[in-house]
Amino acid sequence: MDYTKILNKISEELSNFSNSGKIASYIPELSKVDPSKYGVHLYCTLGSHHAYGDTKERFSIQSISKVFSLTLVMKLLGDALWERMDVEPSGNAYNSLFQLERENGIPRNPFINSGALVLADILVSEYEKPKDEILKFVRNISEVTSIDFDEKVAHSEKQHGYRNAALANLMKSFGNIKNDISTVLDVYFYQCSLAMSCEELAKAFMVYANQGKLLKTGEEIVNPIKVQRINALMQTCGFYDEAGEFAFRVGLPGKSGVGGGIVAIHPEKYSAAVWSPKLNERGNSLLGMETLERLTTKTGLSIF
Ligand code: GLU
Repeated sequence: MDYTKILNKISEELSNFSNSGKIASYIPELSKVDPSKYGVHLYCTLGSHHAYGDTKERFSIQSISKVFSLTLVMKLLGDALWERMDVEPSGNAYNSLFQLERENGIPRNPFINSGALVLADILVSEYEKPKDEILKFVRNISEVTSIDFDEKVAHSEKQHGYRNAALANLMKSFGNIKNDISTVLDVYFYQCSLAMSCEELAKAFMVYANQGKLLKTGEEIVNPIKVQRINALMQTCGFYDEAGEFAFRVGLPGKSGVGGGIVAIHPEKYSAAVWSPKLNERGNSLLGMETLERLTTKTGLSIF
């Protein structure tokens, strides 16, 4: 399969695409990004990698980080985690409050904000320095030691994080947040501020395409059964209330973020990261989804 040729072809086709998406502006720092940025990077389990566009430039990965915190928590807790959250698509916006109230403070899944806040709470309970552990994990699986949080983005989100504070408070009232709310929010805002490039994200997500193992050394980072579950959650819950549309059009497990990044994996075959900051109405990168849809169409490789 000539992935480089396919990526070039897709990018050529999309060069005239009229992009009606909008950059996320509710975190002011995110609105400073150049909307014309575009990159796509694909890593194969056979070792080759293929790139087009701005694949080395770092951007705010935002919700994509929830896959990393889920993995860390699943390594720590096992099934006890599922007493504190469910594994169902929410069918609602990622920062919605009303479903959480109706369901007694139990988040629908780990990839909506409430779920990710519970994950952050668990990391605060389990680790003395949770932010350091997140960094250590991401640097390890991407094999890039310079990956870091973006302080400006973290502060910007903290200053405007009213809904996340509301979600955390609501869950605390139901007993589903155990630690101090500002400590939990701090971990969450920092993890969302992680800055990574498409190349680094595609590399990091190889763990999920490669049965939980690092490609280079074969070291097991997370056991294969847990990886299957994480991939199932990416498939069913990875795209806010557009997970059905993503499965329908693209047909791969993946996760998006409001920074305009999307990572998708094909188990045993590849991981692909794409970045284009303009989002559709549901908060997913508009060009990112177009790109991945064309990738699975042209390669004939969706998981279905
Ligand atoms: N940090 C963002 C928030 O909590 C993440 C949103 C996202 O990427 O879905 O609103």
